[in-house]
Amino acid sequence: MDGRGAGPVDLLLRHGRVITMDPARRILVDGAIAVTDGRITDMGPDREVAPRHTARETRDLRSAVVHPGLVDGHNHTNSRAVRGLFPKDSIDWSPVERATLEGMTPEFEYASAVLACMEMVASGTTIYSDTGGSLFLDQTVAAIETVGMRGVPGWFIVDAPGALGGTWSRAALAQRLQVSTQEGLRRLRDQVDRYPFRRGPGEPSPRARSAVLLMGMLANTEQLVIAAQELARERDLPLIMHKSWSADEVEASLAEHGRRPVERLADIGVLGPNVTLAHAIQLDEHEVELLAAAGASMLRGVGAIRVGRFPEALAAGVNVALGSDGGRGQKHDVARAMYLAVGVHREVRGAFPVITFEQALEMATINGARALGLADELGSIEIGKRADLVVHGLDATEAHPKLRDPVDALVFVMRSGSVESVYVDGEPIYLGRRFTRFDPVVAYETVDRLAAEFEAQIGIGRFSAWPLIE
Ligand SMILES: [Zn+2]
Repeated sequence: MDGRGAGPVDLLLRHGRVITMDPARRILVDGAIAVTDGRITDMGPDREVAPRHTARETRDLRSAVVHPGLVDGHNHTNSRAVRGLFPKDSIDWSPVERATLEGMTPEFEYASAVLACMEMVASGTTIYSDTGGSLFLDQTVAAIETVGMRGVPGWFIVDAPGALGGTWSRAALAQRLQVSTQEGLRRLRDQVDRYPFRRGPGEPSPRARSAVLLMGMLANTEQLVIAAQELARERDLPLIMHKSWSADEVEASLAEHGRRPVERLADIGVLGPNVTLAHAIQLDEHEVELLAAAGASMLRGVGAIRVGRFPEALAAGVNVALGSDGGRGQKHDVARAMYLAVGVHREVRGAFPVITFEQALEMATINGARALGLADELGSIEIGKRADLVVHGLDATEAHPKLRDPVDALVFVMRSGSVESVYVDGEPIYLGRRFTRFDPVVAYETVDRLAAEFEAQIGIGRFSAWPLIE
């Protein structure tokens, strides 16, 4: 309550149904949140909090659902502009990936990332992390700042010569975009120097910040992974990388080292509490135990339900978070991933529940913040944390009836499109379903033009299932 008695607060949100995600998981049936200098300075039942403050701005939320900004632990922002161009009947996306990455320009990188960030914000996400995918990192950062959300982007780094193949089919890209291990490490140092993950006390909380991010899987040499972890430990940063996405990766690891991928990470001293693995689908029981023992995090992504061991990992105490893996074919929508985590696991496993509504919301908020090394700042609505807040609209049928416990409605019933406003550091970056920092029409026009150019170049007709009549 450090806002009390210190003059007016910047913002007072009143009468919300506030899902706090605090350690006690309190839900405020009629709650208020006070914000000063981007932080939550007071919160609690409205009848207690509201009388304590005068505010520069007050909003009556009329029992709308409020929750912490969602965390998209894993996505890719620079292929958003070519969604719909990927083959629908094959996982071999190399023709489009090659064309996209070969044809990437600063303008394309920016436009694609703006669209991706818009989609995230409009579905209630306030921070995302990439696994390093930018060919023009400054443009990705500019896009994050245009939209006003938070992001953890990094350079595209592939240093393993000819290691990519099989269904992933990135070999052609790797040939062109491959860098030396030394250059890979230089890029990692560059991104964490230029976009610091943490700032000093009193400095503004960064919207864009980088960490130690790697493509992982078969794209990076062990030498780089080891050096990356040294850098991460030296700077106290998270190390986030793809791991154990495909059976190919497991086979390659077994053939080369006689160990599964996560076992190998443990053997070479890389596994630890700062490690977050995107996907981590192809795990055996021992690898789940290793992750739990190391305090490492896992991010779910595409392909996780059939063979993944996410319920087992949660039970073992692994920090499991959510990622949309947005870009290419997938939506940047963590709210939808929550729904799938609950609904599809119980369908596939024939048990009820497998992942609970509450666990899904934890995965999308506080677990996500922990996976990004930011649980002290983000992931819950608590005094002292950043005011990254999502308010759902009352103009959607699914916002009614107004039940006192809104969790299962939020996870299972609400469309992410019912998000009405999004605050980052208490700043409304999306208000009444309008972006406040920029003109979305310009963003749409740019992305439409760039995508049309790609469509002409790639030839969408090759992947269209139905005839296209001009
Ligand atoms: Zn990915």
